[in-house]
Amino acid sequence: MTVAAIIVAAGRGTRAGGDLPKQWQLLAGRPVIAHTFAAMRRHCEHICVVLHPDDLDRWEALALRADTVVVGGQTRDASVRAGLEALRTRAPELVLIHDAARPLVSDRIISDVIAALATHAGAAPAIAVNDSLWSGANGKVTGAVDRDGLFRAQTPQGFHYRAILDAHTQLSEPATDDVAVARLAGLEVAIIEGDEKNLKITTKGDLSRINKLLEHDMDVRCGNGYDVHRFGEGDHVWLCGVKIPHGRGLQGHSDADVGMHAITDAIYGALGMGDIGQHFPPSDPQWKGAQSHIFLRHAVQLAADNGFKISNIDCTLVCEHPKVGPHQATMKAAIAAITGINAARISVKATTSERLGFTGREEGIAAIATTTLVSS
Ligand code: MG
Repeated sequence: MTVAAIIVAAGRGTRAGGDLPKQWQLLAGRPVIAHTFAAMRRHCEHICVVLHPDDLDRWEALALRADTVVVGGQTRDASVRAGLEALRTRAPELVLIHDAARPLVSDRIISDVIAALATHAGAAPAIAVNDSLWSGANGKVTGAVDRDGLFRAQTPQGFHYRAILDAHTQLSEPATDDVAVARLAGLEVAIIEGDEKNLKITTKGDLSRINKLLEHDMDVRCGNGYDVHRFGEGDHVWLCGVKIPHGRGLQGHSDADVGMHAITDAIYGALGMGDIGQHFPPSDPQWKGAQSHIFLRHAVQLAADNGFKISNIDCTLVCEHPKVGPHQATMKAAIAAITGINAARISVKATTSERLGFTGREEGIAAIATTTLVSS
């Protein structure tokens, strides 16, 4: 089941204060849209971001990998339609349409919407209204409104792609949201339980409220990686990005940098997103002899796309030879350059195995790595 997301971010709303539209204001040091992107990335194979033309440079500067970037229209409807049209060649089975200004959408809501689409044409989160509802005029209450059966709508609103594309194409009157568009086309939309935290930033107060919620929501992940490569013919080894002359080489499909592989797997591990073999299959000839920084850069980008920054890396190389000590600082600098984190947060150390086992007999080198990722 292919699931695409359309993140609608083309509006100019500045009621949240400041000179920037709300989706570009900073939340915990990153623009709101970066948090929203990370939340959707965890669940959707394909992400389409709909931007205002003035924001294309801002998006570029974020260095997040959207699969499709399109310019939106004058109205929200037009922007959603631009996103849906841009997905035509991709033709996903399901599409989730989400406001960039709802950065705290939970994993639970997104999976519930996707799950409901197995049995419904559409599904969207909402919260039942608990407060009394009044009508009023001139500062006075003029009546009470029955709140029974009333809901506050949220996003992401999920649909079968073809059905919502057709509904938007045939739309002849303005609609408040995509659920309204779907209903005008006769589609049935299931209500998923929403979440008070999934609020839409509208005013300055919303931004500071979300900032407070984020403080309590910090996500800290730990991952480990382990790798072994055997010795063979050669006159050098690559260890943590440094080429070290040696009487033998390490064998492997890539450059066999056992340290960098362990670090890369630790990052994938912390993200819960597979391992090197899954992202770069040894059966694929394009990775033969590949330099391992390609793998590490991919893992670092994946972490950023998912809203994490790497807090620290600790790697231990297990070998009798070559001696690692003289190269430690260069290795730290190499890993720092690839990952973009400060060398002071990187540790590369080495141990022998007291001549025991395969590393002790110098049949190969092992590496173990640990990393901590923090939601950013
Ligand atoms: Mg390896």
